[in-house]
Amino acid sequence: MKANCWVGPNKVEVQDVPDPTILNGRDAVVRITSTAICGSDLHLLDGYVPTMEKGDVLGHEFMGEVVEVGPGVDGSRLRVGDRVVVPFPIACGACLACRAELYSCCENTNPNAGVAEKMFGHPVAGIFGYSHLTGGFAGGQAEYARVPFADVGPIRIESDLDDEHVLFLSDILPTGYMGAEMCDIQDGDVVAVWGAGPVGQFAMDSARMLGADTVIAIDDVSYRLEMAASQGYRTIDYSDTDVRSALLELTGGRGPDKCIDAVGMEASHGTAHVHLYDRLKQAVRSESDRPHALRQAILSCRSGGIVSVIGVYGGLVDKFPAGAWMNRSLTLRTGQCHVQRYMRPLLDRIERGEIDPTRVITHRLPLAEAPHGYDIFKNKADGCEKVVLKP
Ligand code: NAD
Ligand code: ZN
Ligand code: ZN
Repeated sequence: MKANCWVGPNKVEVQDVPDPTILNGRDAVVRITSTAICGSDLHLLDGYVPTMEKGDVLGHEFMGEVVEVGPGVDGSRLRVGDRVVVPFPIACGACLACRAELYSCCENTNPNAGVAEKMFGHPVAGIFGYSHLTGGFAGGQAEYARVPFADVGPIRIESDLDDEHVLFLSDILPTGYMGAEMCDIQDGDVVAVWGAGPVGQFAMDSARMLGADTVIAIDDVSYRLEMAASQGYRTIDYSDTDVRSALLELTGGRGPDKCIDAVGMEASHGTAHVHLYDRLKQAVRSESDRPHALRQAILSCRSGGIVSVIGVYGGLVDKFPAGAWMNRSLTLRTGQCHVQRYMRPLLDRIERGEIDPTRVITHRLPLAEAPHGYDIFKNKADGCEKVVLKP
């Protein structure tokens, strides 16, 4: 089959790879009908995640048709022919973490748990297409994928909603929603969102849906800020405005009640984890001169407020402002999204027309053009906000 593979920093390639097969009783094989490129894939592209290997199949946002199931798959939950959206964390559904609905912390699905433990102190769940740190599972930017614990995570789509309305249940819609939910939004809240990428856009939509009074988008990419403005959100361009001062001005000098980091490593000092991880095989992009989004969010947030971090970090964050966090009674919440928790309620909201996930799609490309998709998404070229690939 054809699959989009990581071949080195800043280089992906569509290659011929072996078709996936059932390896464990509870696996399924899914024929992929739609898949997407995520900001998290850019961290791999950038070379920020040291545990990628040449030829690894990328992609953790995908959906399609079940074409084969293992003998242990619960037939009441999944059968050949079902149309499913697959959540990006692979979860067993039975361990202590899964029973607490902390699916991205599943204790049973990462065969390389030791590597994750070395980096993060404890293991994390397996993730499709996301390096050997999260299990080395082949991803879904491909014609087919093997899905472990297939009767736990994947959600069946039984209505006639098209792929584009449901695909983002695999990741970015639940992630944006969790970013807003972690803010515990109260009436009248002002919520500032760093990053107007697809995840940031859904965090904004979710903040409004959960009752925020004012939502503010912060970015330096004008068409992305315009996309946020078209939904009625206020915008700050950090390339020509001092963000903290602008936020204080908008909030009577106190700062936003809730701040969401939907940027992650793009703005971090990306060399920090190099020293932690001596098996690094690739170049890491030189230290960025952008303002650090998470630091700015913590310093801008009102005292007693909540900073919700959905942007992905791979190692230590330089100069984390622990003093502001501690002295101003801030609450910090974060996590890889526990996608399985949100799929059903968000599918209901999509069906009721309360949220339109298609609004972020700017490009639809055949799988063969995945490298071009990565290029425009990374470089914010051609008005690119979100790329959907069709295998
Ligand atoms: P993206 O790259 O399209 O968006 C990031 C945006 O941040 C860009 O528009 C960029 O211009 C902007 N930005 C960069 N530096 C900034 C700064 N200092 N201040 C304000 N904005 C800045 O990516 P995306 O797909 O929207 O994903 C965003 C983040 O969410 C990534 O870090 C991704 O890894 C992460 N993510 C997390 C989860 C999770 O489970 N927690 C899931 C999916 C994605
Ligand atoms: Zn993603
Ligand atoms: Zn589990």
